[in-house]
Amino acid sequence: MTVAVVGGGISGLVVAWRLRSRGRAAVVLETTSRLGGAVGTRAKQGFLLETGPNSFLDREPATRELAGALNLEHKIRAADAAAKRRYVYTRGQLRSVPASPPAFLGSDILPWSAKLRVMGELFTGRAASGVDESLADFGRRHLGATATRVLLDAVQTGIFAGDVERLSVGATFPPLVKLEQEHRSLILGAIRTQRAQRKALPAGASSAPKLSGALSTFEGGLQTLIDALSASLGDDARVGATVEGLTRVGDRWRLAVNERGQRAELDASHVVLAAPAYVTQKLLQPLDAELAARVGGIEYAPIAVVQLGFDVGTTPAPDGFGFLVPPAEGRRLLGSIHASTVFPFRVEPGRVLYTCMVGGAKRPDLVGLDEPALVALAREELKALAGVTATPSLTEVFRWPLGIPQYNVGHLARMAAVDQSLTRWPGLSLTGNAYKGVGLNDCIRNGLQLADALVAAGG
Ligand SMILES: Cc1cc2nc3c(=O)[nH]c(=O)nc-3n(C[C@H](O)[C@H](O)[C@H](O)COP(=O)(O)OP(=O)(O)OC[C@H]3O[C@@H](n4cnc5c(N)ncnc54)[C@H](O)[C@@H]3O)c2cc1C
Repeated sequence: MTVAVVGGGISGLVVAWRLRSRGRAAVVLETTSRLGGAVGTRAKQGFLLETGPNSFLDREPATRELAGALNLEHKIRAADAAAKRRYVYTRGQLRSVPASPPAFLGSDILPWSAKLRVMGELFTGRAASGVDESLADFGRRHLGATATRVLLDAVQTGIFAGDVERLSVGATFPPLVKLEQEHRSLILGAIRTQRAQRKALPAGASSAPKLSGALSTFEGGLQTLIDALSASLGDDARVGATVEGLTRVGDRWRLAVNERGQRAELDASHVVLAAPAYVTQKLLQPLDAELAARVGGIEYAPIAVVQLGFDVGTTPAPDGFGFLVPPAEGRRLLGSIHASTVFPFRVEPGRVLYTCMVGGAKRPDLVGLDEPALVALAREELKALAGVTATPSLTEVFRWPLGIPQYNVGHLARMAAVDQSLTRWPGLSLTGNAYKGVGLNDCIRNGLQLADALVAAGG
């Protein structure tokens, strides 16, 4: 069986890599001139800049398994301990996010009235079953309006850059819904889960010996993972190859491929569409308009990454992982990662790197600004929010017009309908961040699972 994988982001690469390591033939077709999609690291003027994602949590066995198989485990770099501290901009200043319930009671992250309302979470009732609730509605029921506006909206901004009133809690944070279903109260659920985990462990044992749980990257940045996958795939990962059409011919698939201006056809027994949803929609349109419409209905939030690098001695090293700005603050920054504090090896000693995020579902217009305007915006906001007045020696902008898929209310039903439609098309699969998880860990886990299912189905 030959599997054609459309899209050479992390999702497509992982599928092809796994198929090949299970002895199956697979080819990746990637439209741009490089593999990795949103994942990429550039070295510039002594700074290691991430183009999109910065890190992953070392708690996903699939990611560890992949790193191990690629001989990259020794290159995993955990974040500095300082990265455990995080900040949220609220009520006119950056405030530390408390790391424990006692710290929460003593912190100034929320006014007292809002903190008391959070404690009232213990008395929250369950939602009616089967309701696809918005993250905001779920948050207001459990934590109250202020905590939802300040904390929950900041957290989702850091992952989805979305609209808290539109995102589906079940699709974006399934563990929260599970906690509610099983324990009614999230606080009670968290306490009981922790207790159960402690009891299940023999004294002295750790819950997952190999997984540190730490925020992590690789030596050389996330590009190291892409390079290892690319090297393993060799010529079977083809860049500059745009898939323009897809047709069913008997029990096989025929792809129309435009490879650097040369049009060719490629036959495959199975096709994995790992491109963004709007590309997948176009490819599916002539084949199955209903399926295409379902996939095409997934919205994306644009995002711009503005890197600001500072020379030694020009600005103090910032504390903690970085800060998030709840959209209700009305600022123009989604947040900023203190990249040089989190992963000091990504800069020369003494230098400082801020990775600022702009845009998202609430301010998509900002991503259309030209590069000087985006740099000016990030500098003005960093000055206003974090007091950074120095002039950066390095500026770089990476723009993602269709950056983060939005799992809005209705996403779970949409996914069920997509899965149902796909039963009409044996030999066709979809994967990628648009469907069942946007994080790198999700993309890797889903990619490995899909490849294993294909191998199992193919005998
Ligand atoms: C700014 C930003 C910051 C992020 N931060 C984090 C983070 O810190 N941690 C984390 O876990 N996740 C993060 N994410 C999310 C994560 O990076 C992405 O969800 C993930 O990389 C998506 O991978 P993918 O392969 O599914 O999609 P993509 O990376 O979008 O890959 C799809 C590929 O398909 C190709 N393609 C498109 N059309 C065609 C065609 N017709 N023919 C052939 N190929 C085609 C594209 O060029 C692209 O390479 C971030 C995302 C962004 C944008």
